[in-house]
Amino acid sequence: MDLVCPVCNCMASYLISCPDCGGPMEDSGVVQDFYDDYSPYLDRSITDKVDGAAEDECMHLFYCPSCDSKQRLPIKRVKI
Ligand SMILES: [Zn+2]
Ligand SMILES: [Zn+2]
Repeated sequence: MDLVCPVCNCMASYLISCPDCGGPMEDSGVVQDFYDDYSPYLDRSITDKVDGAAEDECMHLFYCPSCDSKQRLPIKRVKI
């Protein structure tokens, strides 16, 4: 049994509204990928703690193309 992020694994997509302009925000991917782009499949137990996210959550960055606003949203991992 594994804990996986449904968004990273294309099992679900999240549509959230921009807190500034109310427009749709786009998923820009996992936050760790911005710091560590050589291996997105690295054991995340260390980077998760640095990021402040719980181990069973995947921190995603959402971006608003209308007003350039960015927001972090932790995605709850699901068991498969
Ligand atoms: Zn994810
Ligand atoms: Zn916006």
